[in-house]
Amino acid sequence: MTMTGKERILVHACCASCSSHVLEYLSRRYRVTAFYYNPNIQPEDEYRRRWEDMRVVCSRLEIDLIPGEYDPPAWWNRIEPYRDLPERSRRCWECYRLRLEATASRARELGFGIFTTTLSVSPHKVHERIVEEGRRAAAAFGIIFLEEDFKKKDGFKVSVERSRELGLVRQDYCGCLLSREEAKKRKGRKRPGGESSSPPD
Ligand code: SF4
Repeated sequence: MTMTGKERILVHACCASCSSHVLEYLSRRYRVTAFYYNPNIQPEDEYRRRWEDMRVVCSRLEIDLIPGEYDPPAWWNRIEPYRDLPERSRRCWECYRLRLEATASRARELGFGIFTTTLSVSPHKVHERIVEEGRRAAAAFGIIFLEEDFKKKDGFKVSVERSRELGLVRQDYCGCLLSREEAKKRKGRKRPGGESSSPPD
């Protein structure tokens, strides 16, 4: 508990767009600190651009923001056996695992009793898998994982609106180079005058 009577929570922030709604929403109940640990985001220019947008969001919400280590080789090592699998497969579950383990570890180190992630606000992420990996990381570090599905109660819609208000760039791929290639292919399949067969991340 803090002087405001709110419990502290460390929130893994996958990007500014997803964070815009989730951090504000959680601030009503917790004293929030955001943790930007995303070695999956490549190339590095894109990682830096998304970091700058995170700074805008956290500054606007007056939320502390902690940068994680940018270590793409650690990410590639983790997903290498699954790199030929598509999005929403074991490749992504390993990606969730890496980021949630790092968040739980940092939360423990900094004395937080609870952590969560903004990942679930995206309709392209699998909430059941996020919960599974969150529970696994929580058990490993002896803290609690908040299992909320932030896309509920129009969470995704609100995050899109907030992103527009803040002038954030809504990226057209999830983060890794594999997802960037997948997004390019989806665009290639885009029907004339219509939407692509699968929405962007
Ligand atoms: S598509 Fe997204 S969640 Fe899946 S491996 Fe790539 S960066 Fe991670």
